[in-house]
Amino acid sequence: MPELPEVETIRSQLAPRLTGRTLVRVEILDPRLTRPIDLFEVAGELEGDSVASVERRGKYLVLRLESGLALLVHLRMTGSFGFEPTTHERAVLELDDGTRLAYRDVRRFGTWLVLENAELEPYLAAKNGPEPLGARFTGEWLAARLAVRRAPVKAVLLDQRVVAGLGNIYADEALWRARINPLRPAESLDRDEVCRLHRAIRVALRAGIERQGSTLTDYRTPEGTRGAMQEEFRVYGRDGLPCPRCGTTIAKTRVVGRGTWYCPRCQPLG
Ligand SMILES: [Zn+2]
Repeated sequence: MPELPEVETIRSQLAPRLTGRTLVRVEILDPRLTRPIDLFEVAGELEGDSVASVERRGKYLVLRLESGLALLVHLRMTGSFGFEPTTHERAVLELDDGTRLAYRDVRRFGTWLVLENAELEPYLAAKNGPEPLGARFTGEWLAARLAVRRAPVKAVLLDQRVVAGLGNIYADEALWRARINPLRPAESLDRDEVCRLHRAIRVALRAGIERQGSTLTDYRTPEGTRGAMQEEFRVYGRDGLPCPRCGTTIAKTRVVGRGTWYCPRCQPLG
């Protein structure tokens, strides 16, 4: 599933190609993408409008349009954009400069939603906490969110209202960097641990953005490139391999049903 670094990479590649362009033709091929709204209704709202900006909020891509509407895209498990024709196309945007942009989604969990400008911020604010690389995401804010939760710290980190854009990969990487066991009750973290975790979340996400995200299956960026973050993973998906810090064999467990990797020595539970 694309997380903040992957969605940010997509945003940064789409922005220069889409900004200022008119959507001369919009074809939505899968009713699941827009349901419960009819796909022809959504396509009709978009067609003829122009892209004012391409933004990101948490894991959402936001295409702001000149008319005051916004197209909100959530890629979920397997959504992606590409400038080359591909398989499993669920929607196609044709721009006034002849560019063809396809939305691909093998498992079809992705969503497209058109909102008015006035509806956009309340909608996003209800689903997303502060941007982890922004000024509102402070150690104090994280401490207050963790202090009231008995759930495993990793489960709380996956809550988008706590940290927008964090998912399974970068949560594991951040917990390893902070030397905190993913199963620790969130409320049990002391002040130093929360400070380390706050910093580690930012470091892990910045590392992901610098490497254009991670490529685990056949995912491609819109320009057809592959991210390289998977070559830099410290723990994620590395069970049986040595911890890069202490050499202990990395272990795998499950937290809220999600595969979770950690170093038993660097990240002790007791
Ligand atoms: Zn270790």
